[in-house]
Amino acid sequence: MLAGVYTGVESLRFQEWPKPELGPNEILVKVRYAGICGTDMMIYAGKHPRVVPPRVLGHEIFGAIAKTRAPAESKLKEGDRVAVFPLISCGRCVPCREGNAHVCEKLGLLGIDADGGFAEYVKTTPEQLIPVPPGVDDEQAALVEPLSVAVHVVRISGFTAGDTALVTGAGPIGNLIAQVLRAVGARHVLVSEAMPFRRELAGRMGFAVVNPLEVKPAEAIRKLMGENFVDHVFEATGAPAAYRDAVQCCKVRGHITFVGLPKSVPEVDVLNLVFKEIRTSGARVYTPKDFLVAISLLERGAIDVKSVVTDRLPLKDIEIGLQRMHNPDSSLKILFSL
Ligand SMILES: [Zn+2]
Ligand SMILES: [Zn+2]
Repeated sequence: MLAGVYTGVESLRFQEWPKPELGPNEILVKVRYAGICGTDMMIYAGKHPRVVPPRVLGHEIFGAIAKTRAPAESKLKEGDRVAVFPLISCGRCVPCREGNAHVCEKLGLLGIDADGGFAEYVKTTPEQLIPVPPGVDDEQAALVEPLSVAVHVVRISGFTAGDTALVTGAGPIGNLIAQVLRAVGARHVLVSEAMPFRRELAGRMGFAVVNPLEVKPAEAIRKLMGENFVDHVFEATGAPAAYRDAVQCCKVRGHITFVGLPKSVPEVDVLNLVFKEIRTSGARVYTPKDFLVAISLLERGAIDVKSVVTDRLPLKDIEIGLQRMHNPDSSLKILFSL
């Protein structure tokens, strides 16, 4: 088969690669779409701690079952359309045994620790496949993985209908978080984003937006909401200035959820975290339930994932796709089709 293979630092080749052989209880998925994310860029740059080349990248995967060696109880059959839940957990560590396999101490991922979805076929297990109903089309289904990140962030935060929110960052994840908040009944959502393309896209999608380099998000909150603070902040940039805005804009006893990954250990205003009794959570990846919620949101048309897709390329153009990711202000989500 053909695959996009990471062969070393800044080297990714579209090349022949052995088609996966199935063992017992394994399922072969014919990939239809695979998305690129920031993690793939990190791998490409040679900055990912675990990936050992050669490796087929890609963990945002949608396709159809080509062949199954899973028992009939799995209820998965050839031809079924499936979103791939790409996490690989050990099942033995304390988080796994406590029911939190998504934060397994040895958490692995298809496309990092095993061959992923930038290929004609990917090998999976029944637990990694979530059926996609006919009401969700192929391209929407390709975005189930990043949408599940946003769903997880919102679910972990304790956000409830009627709450107000600031989302810092309008990349694919920030944009999808804002959309999930709207879908679950946010009273006000303000999106803070310095990059014009990303900010304008969020604006066109109906969100109040602010350029934090020009107007302090705290001021924009006062103007938009008539209040000085928000109930919830969702930090989706990892940028130092956003940590400051998050603490400044969060109300007394409000909540900040961190999902952006900082490039170095950031300065955080702990004094105000203490004085305002702000609660904080980190949010990492997703659970199978988040996938189910994401799919049901798509099925009832509550989330516009297609507007987040800026580039659609055949997998053979994988290097072009990675080059475009270097320009975050014109490319959000890049999808490869097969
Ligand atoms: Zn990712
Ligand atoms: Zn584990």
